[in-house]
Order: sequence, then structure tokens, then C-alpha cells
Amino acid sequence: MRNGRDMTMVPLPATIIGRKELSADTTLYRLTLESSEKDRFDFNPGQFVQLSVPSGGEVPLSLAGPPLLHYSFELCVRRVGHVTDMLHHLLPPNRVGVRGPFGNGFPLSEWTGRNILLIAGGLGIAPLRSLLYALLMRRGEFGEITLMYGAREPSAILFKEELAELSGRRDMHLFLTVDFATEQSPGGLACNTGLLPTLLRGVNFSTTGTVAAVCGPPALYRCLLEELQGFGITAEHIYLSLERRMKCGVGLCCHCAVGDLFCCSDGPVFRYSQLKGISGAI
Ligand SMILES: Cc1cc2nc3c(=O)[nH]c(=O)nc-3n(C[C@H](O)[C@H](O)[C@H](O)COP(=O)(O)OP(=O)(O)OC[C@H]3O[C@@H](n4cnc5c(N)ncnc54)[C@H](O)[C@@H]3O)c2cc1C
Repeated sequence: MRNGRDMTMVPLPATIIGRKELSADTTLYRLTLESSEKDRFDFNPGQFVQLSVPSGGEVPLSLAGPPLLHYSFELCVRRVGHVTDMLHHLLPPNRVGVRGPFGNGFPLSEWTGRNILLIAGGLGIAPLRSLLYALLMRRGEFGEITLMYGAREPSAILFKEELAELSGRRDMHLFLTVDFATEQSPGGLACNTGLLPTLLRGVNFSTTGTVAAVCGPPALYRCLLEELQGFGITAEHIYLSLERRMKCGVGLCCHCAVGDLFCCSDGPVFRYSQLKGISGAI
């Protein structure tokens, strides 16, 4: 509490300083806080902010860019409804409100020396992009790094230019797949056709001492989690990010309860072993 008010509940003014259309319905925004908080804004990949659009409302959004991005941060937003549609109409230097960062994020320091497998389905690439760049910034601390990313169709693949650059790196592996192929090589990228579980079964990756971070829609979790355990990756070492409708973002309002856990403050990143016994968690 500062000045008698809980500052976690007070949005700070932020300015949109950049935006890039990534697909027909998804845009990458770069924002900077206007206040003195700007140089203190730091986060762990997997954390989220509550972004408010003036006269619109507030929505939780994952931090999608690398940490320490010169006093700015990135959000990758799909236009699905009221608030995200209003945001879509804002251009630099429009202003919004930001609370956070909230939630726990991925525990990178516990992963030292391990092989890392990242699996992103659709918009799940947003938090995993942040995680990937954080891992690459500390590249020497980890074993093999593999990113598997699946999208509905070639036009829905986000961050095509960055993926092209990543595919040329020798210190990580990148595998892409689309459910439906409408073009041979989307944006010049080598791409498989089929669902992520098929990709997982069809490519080589290290399964010894491996940590998996999975982010995507619930249907992806339902088909991938058992499969990953079949490769010998235990539920303790599988991390996933949950999405729930949330209000306060700090564990006060109980809107995002998952059993005894709150998605906003205990998560949104959970070990699969934490969720396995909770009915309706996934
Ligand atoms: C921790 C967390 C991180 C998220 N990160 C991102 C992100 O990086 N990028 C992004 O685009 N979206 C993200 N979301 C989802 C985003 O918060 C919702 O899309 C947004 O709240 C929709 O608000 P709206 O007013 O535009 O839509 P509404 O008009 O409220 O709803 C439109 C449709 O979206 C569905 N919806 C609304 N809220 C959610 C939700 N929380 N989860 C799933 N479906 C929802 C509704 O059921 C409805 O079908 C995240 C959600 C959480 C909880």
C-alpha cells in the first residue's frame, strides 16, 4: 500500500509506442509506462498485465516480448470482443492503463542445465515468445532448446519474420506445423502439416532431463499432456499456462479460482502435477 491506496489496483498510464499487424486478427503492441514506474517495470516470462482501454474495460494479456526491452514491453493481442476490439482501433501515441505485472511466470532459475521443450498452439506463442527470448539471453545455462509451434493455417502463423531468423540459429531447434496447408512454404518457412501431437511424435528432441512448457487452448493440453508423459517427461516437469476470466489480477476477487488455487496469483503458470487432481482445471 502506498498513499493509503493499494497501488496494484490503480492502473498506471501507458503510451502505445508501436504496433504491428501479425495476422488478420492479431496485433503486436509496444507500450511504455509514462510515470517514474517505467524504469522499474520488470517481469518474468509467463506473467501478465491487466490492460485497460479508456471507456472500454480491462483485460488480462500476457507479456509477449523479451524482458528488459529498453523501458518498454510488448503485448500480442487477438481481437475477440469488446475491449480487444477497442484496443485494435488505438494507434501510437494513444494512451491506455496498465496494472501489473501479475502472476508467477516460468521458473527459469529452476531449469538450469535442463533441456527445454516449448510447445505453443495458436496465441500460446505470445508468452512462449517471451520465454524463448529470455532463455536465449541466458543461452549458456540450458541444454537443448526446442520450439514447436502450431497454427491453424499458414496465414495464422504469428511472428513469421522472427521465426525465419530463429530457424537459422544453430543453438536451438524450431519446428512449425499448420492444421491446414494452403501454401507450400508460409513466408519461406519450412512447415509441417498436421496437429501438434503429430509433430511431437514425428521429430527428434531430447527427452532426458527435459522440462516442457506448453501454452495454447485447453484442447491442446488435453491431447498433449499425456503424450509428453509418454516421452518420459514427468508431470512435475511439464508447465502450462491457464487462462481464466479474471478481474482483480491479485487473488482478491476469486473470479479465477481453479480448485483451491487462483489462476491470477498462484498461476497463470502451473506444473501439470499441481492441476492433475483438480476437476475442470484443464
Ligand atoms: C492470464 C491471461 C493471459 C492472456 N493473454 C492473452 C494474450 O497475450 N493475448 C490475447 O489476445 N489474449 C490473452 N488472454 C485472453 C484475453 O484476456 C481475452 O481475449 C480478453 O479478455 C477478451 O476480452 P474482450 O472484451 O475483447 O472480449 P469479450 O467481449 O469479453 O469476449 C469475447 C469472447 O472472448 C471470450 N473470452 C473473454 N475473456 C476470456 C478469457 N480470459 N479467456 C478466454 N476467453 C475469453 C469470451 O467468452 C467471448 O467468447 C489472456 C487471458 C488470461 C487470463
